[in-house]
Amino acid sequence: GELTLDDDSRLAFEPAAKPVPPEERARLLEDPGFGRVFTDHMAIIEYDEAKGWHDARLTARHPFTMDPAAPVLHYAQEIFEGMKAYRRPGGGAALFRPDANARRFAKSAIRLAMPPLPEEMFLDSVRALVRADRDWIPATEDGSLYLRPFMIANGSFLGMRSSTQFIYAVIASSVGSYFKGDAASVSLWVTREYVRAAPGGTGEAKCGGNYAGSLVAQAEAVRNGCDQVVFLDATERRWVEELGGMNVFFVFEDGSIQTPPLDGTILHGVTRDSLLTLARDMGLTVREEPYSIEQWKADAESGRLTEAFACGTAAVVTPIGRVKEADGEFAIGGQSTGPLTLRLRSALVDIQRGDAPDPYGWVE
Ligand code: PMP
Repeated sequence: GELTLDDDSRLAFEPAAKPVPPEERARLLEDPGFGRVFTDHMAIIEYDEAKGWHDARLTARHPFTMDPAAPVLHYAQEIFEGMKAYRRPGGGAALFRPDANARRFAKSAIRLAMPPLPEEMFLDSVRALVRADRDWIPATEDGSLYLRPFMIANGSFLGMRSSTQFIYAVIASSVGSYFKGDAASVSLWVTREYVRAAPGGTGEAKCGGNYAGSLVAQAEAVRNGCDQVVFLDATERRWVEELGGMNVFFVFEDGSIQTPPLDGTILHGVTRDSLLTLARDMGLTVREEPYSIEQWKADAESGRLTEAFACGTAAVVTPIGRVKEADGEFAIGGQSTGPLTLRLRSALVDIQRGDAPDPYGWVE
């Protein structure tokens, strides 16, 4: 069902003393962009070895105070999530598959030697924040409330071990579309110099360090006139893995679709998983198999590949228009969004926004 204001929350609620006035909020929501406009509240739950998880509260959004020797500041012991609440036709708010984010967050915690947050606490905290700040969901067609749960290692020591103190928090940001100017498609830069993740590394975890390490490659993409970077595997430098913050799909002339398999180095995208389910239920042939950069180029040039798209919570489903490498580039499909990309995007977005039935129980 939809989130209601009187739902029982297990977090103490300390309403913001000085919330942003409604007129000011309305002005901010006109063109929020992505990740710049923040809401009035945040959720916090603290952890230490003696008390376990404690002091769960929803409170005014405020800066943290921490010791300069806090481990997160030195060794990047940090994980996060990204998910969205959507405005419902009836005026309520709904989350999309929040249980999947709760599970992924717990898995990331284990990989970063942090205490996994119980999934119910994750869900309670996210729901409570959406309830308190639901007026911050833009009423625009592509607007939503982007939720950012995260966990950091707190304390004061420089030893090389896991911390015993952690802060879990959730902040929320009113967002429009991720790509500026409603880009019809994105261009990708294939980095040959940098890799995002290696077997045995942290590629599958949603930890801050993965993103810090990808920024230089993203900057290289922008220098080369591209929107996003595409990473290849670390071992053979040949297999397409994913983009800096999105998974990737390929669409073929015969109507089949393909995406790289979850082999330990790429993020288990919730959008990826949802699109695979939707595609299979549409009767499409779906492959989770490696795809090389040479094959991608050859298939785009021969016409065997007709569409390609990137997908993620922030990017939703965005067509890929061209792919550039140091020694040339190739284009994909025509000028407009391909039919299968459009069909999959609509199927997903209609469920998320409540414009279509939800046979999977994804929306809550
Ligand atoms: N890959 C990476 C590296 C990401 O950061 C994201 C965004 N979380 C995704 C893929 C897409 O995942 P999701 O569909 O769960 O947003």
